[in-house]
Amino acid sequence: MKRFAIAVDGPAGSGKSTVAKAVAKRLGIIYVDTGAMYRGVAYNCIQKGVNCSDEKAVLALLDGIHLEILPTEEGQKIFLENQDITEKIRTQKIGQGASEVAVIQSVRQKLGDMQRAMARKNSVVMDGRDIGTYVLPQAEVKIYMDAGVDERTMRRMGELKAKGEKPEFEAVRKEIIQRDDNDMNRQHNPLRKAPDAVYIDTTRMTIEDVVEKILTIVQEKLGEVRV
Ligand code: C5P
Repeated sequence: MKRFAIAVDGPAGSGKSTVAKAVAKRLGIIYVDTGAMYRGVAYNCIQKGVNCSDEKAVLALLDGIHLEILPTEEGQKIFLENQDITEKIRTQKIGQGASEVAVIQSVRQKLGDMQRAMARKNSVVMDGRDIGTYVLPQAEVKIYMDAGVDERTMRRMGELKAKGEKPEFEAVRKEIIQRDDNDMNRQHNPLRKAPDAVYIDTTRMTIEDVVEKILTIVQEKLGEVRV
């Protein structure tokens, strides 16, 4: 069948990546985690001692950056200069750095071009902040996932604990509020629900419920997809 795209946007901790990965698996298509690409740029900066908010220095690094995204059976892998950094980018520090480099327009343009190139070659479920509004405005299905800030804090804490970190509720909550503020109020491609996106509040929903809801929306819009 014809290639199609499912855009999933929403704030930090809304459950996008878990759900988008599961939806992609059920449909047998590729999952693209665009947040990992911003994290990859931030990781590169931090490694090289560059402040993620220093636009000039970040741009100098961006020119020579060799970032590769590899969709695999277990999910997406990300490589920087041929080194697998998939797990290394999952820290609070890199998340904060990612939201700082994400303010810079040239960073957004470069990563947006890479993301569009992936969607030209494959059917994708792509998650991020600006997929339905900017990267893939023609996506056949658009979802905006949201959840209350306390719920998102608890979810993020669970992820960090699973990685062996020892997060504190107030610190994680503060970081999420700060990240919401950066993402929603930045000048270039701020986080917004696209007018044609379906809004899903996941606060009291299980992952399975959200996945089923999205698959139903996909079937309604694209009838012939077998799920
Ligand atoms: O989704 P994740 O938490 O990994 O994203 C890290 C940061 O990258 C976000 O807080 C956001 O600032 C930025 N981002 C973005 N646009 C995207 C994906 C992520 O600005 N499409």
